[in-house]
Amino acid sequence: MRIDLSGKKAIVSGSTAGIGFGIARGLALAGAVVVITGRTQERVDQAIDALKQETKSGGIEGVAADLGRADGCQALIDAHPDADILVNNVGIFEPKGFFDIDDDDWERFFQINVMSAVRLSRHYARGMRDRGWGRIQFLSSESALNIPTEMVHYGMTKTAVQSISRGLAKVLAGTGVTVNAILPGPDILPPMNASKLVILDRDGVINEDSDAYIKTPEEWRPLPGSAAAIARLNHAGYRVVVATNQSGLARGYFDQAGLDAIHRTMAAHLEGAGARLSGVFFCPHGPDDGCACRKPLPGLIDQIVAEYGDVTGVPMVGDSLRDLEAGVARGCRPVLVLTGKGRRTLDKGLPETLGPVDVYDSLAGFVDQFLKDPS
Ligand SMILES: [Mg+2]
Ligand SMILES: [Zn+2]
Repeated sequence: MRIDLSGKKAIVSGSTAGIGFGIARGLALAGAVVVITGRTQERVDQAIDALKQETKSGGIEGVAADLGRADGCQALIDAHPDADILVNNVGIFEPKGFFDIDDDDWERFFQINVMSAVRLSRHYARGMRDRGWGRIQFLSSESALNIPTEMVHYGMTKTAVQSISRGLAKVLAGTGVTVNAILPGPDILPPMNASKLVILDRDGVINEDSDAYIKTPEEWRPLPGSAAAIARLNHAGYRVVVATNQSGLARGYFDQAGLDAIHRTMAAHLEGAGARLSGVFFCPHGPDDGCACRKPLPGLIDQIVAEYGDVTGVPMVGDSLRDLEAGVARGCRPVLVLTGKGRRTLDKGLPETLGPVDVYDSLAGFVDQFLKDPS
């Protein structure tokens, strides 16, 4: 999915690391000017450097402030009086038994996790409302609903965030400003580990290929065993993502809603087998559009790197030469399957520049071997 946020300014509180940093990166890649915040200038500067390098964006700024205090929030507001997007991410957590949490702890958690979001939203929402467009995103948590016994004080703040988000959404209804909260579970808290990633082409690998393009959900037909193979990868702890050229969009054979419908069909089929894709990265362009993401160019792989980290050695499984070329350009291990166009690709001969290519009869065949010997 490609969201264009050019011309928008986004503030992400607590964004020198973790989820906040990831959100800032995503916003920068979508074209927004992004303001990073952290407690120390040093960490803010490091995050700005890292983001500039990763996203090639010139629009990364930063403010060092303690957002758990009113004057810290005010320092951010003074430096950046307006924003189109506010992500209330800053928060702390710390396991502590209920009988050990003293008043100061309760107060500290409340100030940082709740009042920072209240103060920033109170200020930035006004400008968004007056301009008729804005996005306010709260980071709640699964712990808002399923209160952890070892962090009751943390759970309290995340439930509070839920209610502020819900209330503010009602206050701003009809103004063009939307307010939402997401509830991450523990699953996404550990750092992404790209070494437990597998990248798949779609057509000819997961589903039957068609020279007439896959234009409708009805035309999406799974290859035997592909969903079960992805489920086996998932169960072994691998995230599986798709990198697919979908020039049918540029050619007008289907539109974005049509592609979304196809991908919902795919997701439902996979779910039936207990399989899940972590992301579907697609190039919507045609061969003459001069884009950087149409395989064999590695733009889709770069998008995956931006989200998951370095992909050196990560399998790129495809049925066409250009799948393998796109992967190899970023250090992936090329795997050719003989489904789809795979037989034709092999018969034409693989260029030596690819280095050694593993060849399997199908995705299922690759996964069987890969899980026995991931190297
Ligand atoms: Mg293919
Ligand atoms: Zn493209």
